This record gives sequence, structure tokens and C-alpha cells, in this order.
Amino acid sequence: MIDVTAEIDDYLHRLFPLCRSLTGEPNRKTLRIIQEIVPLSIHEVSSGTEIYDWVVPDEWTVRDAYIVNSRGIRVVDFKNNNLHLVSYSVPIHSTMCWDELRSHIHKHDQLPDAIPYRTSYYQRDWGFCVTGAQYEELANETEPLTVRIDTDLKKGSLSYGEYLLPGGSNQEILISCYICHPSMANDSLSGVLLTAFLARELAKSKNRKWSYRFIFVPETIGAITYCAMNEAAMKKIDVGLVVTTVGGPGAYGYKQSFEKMHPINKLIEEVFNESKLTFVTYPFDIHGSDERQYSSQGFRINTATISRDRYYEYPFYHTSLDNLLFVSASRINSTLSLYWQLVRKLESRCIYRNRVPFCEVMLSRHDLYPATGGAQRPNNKCESDLDLVLWLLHYCDGKEDIATIARRLETPLKSLEPTLELLVAKNILEQV
Ligand code: ZN
Repeated sequence: MIDVTAEIDDYLHRLFPLCRSLTGEPNRKTLRIIQEIVPLSIHEVSSGTEIYDWVVPDEWTVRDAYIVNSRGIRVVDFKNNNLHLVSYSVPIHSTMCWDELRSHIHKHDQLPDAIPYRTSYYQRDWGFCVTGAQYEELANETEPLTVRIDTDLKKGSLSYGEYLLPGGSNQEILISCYICHPSMANDSLSGVLLTAFLARELAKSKNRKWSYRFIFVPETIGAITYCAMNEAAMKKIDVGLVVTTVGGPGAYGYKQSFEKMHPINKLIEEVFNESKLTFVTYPFDIHGSDERQYSSQGFRINTATISRDRYYEYPFYHTSLDNLLFVSASRINSTLSLYWQLVRKLESRCIYRNRVPFCEVMLSRHDLYPATGGAQRPNNKCESDLDLVLWLLHYCDGKEDIATIARRLETPLKSLEPTLELLVAKNILEQV
């Protein structure tokens, strides 16, 4: 059982205040702090670089942002909470009345105490996000208000982190999280910390079967950039995990990869069931996080997500109430344990190949057939030792793992093991 709760708590408090976005120094600082946990490499891709249908955006820098009333009081101040400023706001310094300002002010309709999180990445604009009380205060101002946004949008670069962990096989497992959210704890930050500590645990384990590719990218544009920069390697990956929203107080859940029958989905269900946890199953859909990029036609990586209080669903999603009161380090640690169990299952995943793939094996030659023929009345069920042998030889093609085959046969995995051992001993099956 992993227990890194105290460390997660420390990093939550250090990372939470940083005003991350698609680009910028707070993203680099986040990656440098994560380097204390795991020695990831930091890569920079220049603004203006074309990546598939997209272009790496200009780098965004914030120095200050506020709205001040005629009496010199800052009604809204970025320094109090970085969610007050719409991410990627262009600079402005102007005085205007409420009617002019109103279209640039965002509030949460259901949660008057919350500051909503809003972005304007690809449309040059500016704006502020406020609580219900601040909105009322601004709306009741009869005098003009001074708006100041001291930001830069200039050529720079997009930063991402990468940590490659080699194993016995060159076949890789992708584990991805996103580093682009400002001060919110469950969305983005909880996943970043879980990913870092999962990488650290895996790095400690000897004799890893698979290789692992951990990436820390800005959501969407960062994942697309990463895919473009690492296309050949990414095309070879079959399975991945996007780690996000893992520390809320609500329900566990998992989003299935695009192939419902892919082993990753069943393995996650096994993890939940063995831990006696109830969970919500979210079938794959084209919304969500960076599994959208990894599942696209060019890559087709079966990417799943285990979450706790999944994005979109909890009321504090994309607001200032998704904070360190909402998220706890111990819950992130609990979800980390589930991911750890899943990785252990992936590590123990067995695949066999029939060494006699052309036509049937002559079973009697290998003492696998009843001495007297003619008495068999087979049906389509897997009821006898002979059935097991025949079905295993049919399915073990060197591609599908034995857990999937057990599900196809509607037979517990354990009951296949003696027959698998027998067929390996007789040199008819081999493990790949
Ligand atoms: Zn988000």
C-alpha cells in the first residue's frame, strides 16, 4: 500500500497558487517542482510551430489585473485569486461605465460564492470572473470603473514534461496528465501529482515488463503538440491512461477506452471490484480530456481514466470552489493506490501464442485426446478439459491477453491456468 499523503499535501499547497495556462513561466515552474518527485525532462516548442491542424500559441504572461472603482478600491483583484482573470486575456488599461464593462464580466449562475474559470485561448479578448457579490457591487457602481490588465502575449514557447521509463519490452504504456489549469485542485492538479508519484513508484520497481511514457502537457494543445513531436513513438502505443480529477470527495468512476472490450477496461473494473469499491462506468465518448487526441484515427491508443469526482460532474467543477478544501491528499493517495494496482495488473498481463497455428494440433500425439474416439458430443460451452484445450488453441494468437480470452469463454481466469501450464509444458503454447 502506497502512502505518500504527506508529500502530496505539501506539493498541493506549493503548486495550487501558480497561475498556469497553456504556456508561460508558471507552467515551467510547475514542471520544475515536479522534477523534485521524478526526473522528467522539460521540452519547449516555439510559438507559431504548426502541429497538425493547430499552431502553438503565443506565450502568455500576467503581471497584474484588477478593476478599481472611483474611490480607488480594487473591487476585483487578480492577486487575490488568479481565476479572476480570463486566461489569455489581452492587455487593457481603460476607464468605462458598467454598461460597457458588463459583457466582459463572468459569474456562476448556480454558485454565487464561486469565481468561475473561463478562458479565451484562441480569440483575442479580455475578461474578469467574479463572485455574485462582486458582480452586484460592479453593477451598482454609478461612477466609471478603471480596468487594468497588465499581460503580454508574445512569441515564446509551450512547455511540456516527459519521463520515459524503460522496461523489458519496448511496448509502451502512455500515462498522461495536464498542467494547464490555474488555482483549481481536483481538475488538473490532483492528476499531475498522482501521475508524478505513480512514476516514482514504478521507477523503484525492478524487472518492469513494459516501458512507460509519462507526459505532463497542457490539455488539448499540449497533447496535440506532444503527438506531433513524437508521432512515430505514439503510433506504436496500444494502451494509455489520462489521469485527472482524482481527489474529490465524491464517487469513483472510470471512463472506458474507445474499444469497450479492450483489456484496460476490464482490468480497471477488476481493480475496483477487488478493492470492494462501487464505481460509475462512463462509456467512451468524444468529449473529455486528452484521450480525445490519443484515440484519434492517427493513433488509436485505448486510453482510459480512473477518477474521483470526475470533471463535468461535480458542482464545483471549473470554479474557485474546486480548491484545497474540496480536495484532500489522502483521497489522491487512495486513487493512486488504484492506479498502482492497475499497473501491477498490466505488468502481470499474460499473452500466449499457439506454436501450431496451421490447422489442428494432433491432440492424441500429445496425450490430450481421449483414448477412445467417437464418444464426444460437444456443445459450444467450455465444459471439459478437451474443450478448454481446443478453445485456448483457437484464441491464443499472440495478441490477445489471457484475461480477455477468459472473458470470451465466460470462464474464471484461474480455471484456465492448469491447461495453460500443460500446453506450455507440451511446447504447444508459448508465452509472448
Ligand atoms: Zn478543466
